[in-house]
Amino acid sequence: MRLPDTSTTLSEIFVQGLYHKKLFSDNRGLEQKLHLKFGALANREGDHQYKGFMAKRPETWPWRVLISLYVLGDYLDAHVVRIAAVDAMILRHEKSDLMTFDDIDFAFANTSPDSKLRELLVHITTYDPDIGSTAREDLIGMPNEFLVNVSMTLSRRLPNRQCQSCYQSALSWSNRQTRYQLIFMSLRTVRPGRLNTCYYHEHSTEEEERDCAARVAREKVLERREQDRNRG
Ligand SMILES: [Zn+2]
Ligand SMILES: [Zn+2]
Repeated sequence: MRLPDTSTTLSEIFVQGLYHKKLFSDNRGLEQKLHLKFGALANREGDHQYKGFMAKRPETWPWRVLISLYVLGDYLDAHVVRIAAVDAMILRHEKSDLMTFDDIDFAFANTSPDSKLRELLVHITTYDPDIGSTAREDLIGMPNEFLVNVSMTLSRRLPNRQCQSCYQSALSWSNRQTRYQLIFMSLRTVRPGRLNTCYYHEHSTEEEERDCAARVAREKVLERREQDRNRG
């Protein structure tokens, strides 16, 4: 793998990420800088991706920026940056924002086959309610591995509605597949890792994973408080 083409802006965010374990920038001109480097990136609905942009909130940054930071973290073996990038992408997606197929192409071209980023993008695509309305033409030319993984995941995903006996037999089938036990948890149409973001984090020790789970829980509480404050 080659070192991806990197701007000084991304390098700055990367180094900050190493020290602070989160992605942010103090650069007041960040939006402008990213715009110069990445141009006017669109999301899949064609909206302008810089809408609501905030330098301190990576979940408002374009997908391509987050994917590039992950790729850089992969290349330089900085797993704290990969974790921070994954978390920002998950948040971005929770605001129901989808990456473009170009972004997916870029991610697959710059990661290794066992990459958690690849898995996350496959899961997001597969579990998105709009997958059914994806135009066939959009998928032609996508990386084979992406297409194979999407279709395999789709085939193992249990449908929303079916009769009780079909649902039960599908459930016991997927429960027998050990690799998928983690993936198919109680709510079968939920994206794998939706209930446990550490699934995408590649923690090296159990202790690290415990600390991370505690941190995620803490942040969720803080976020809920902030939402309540904004509402009230
Ligand atoms: Zn049935
Ligand atoms: Zn974690």
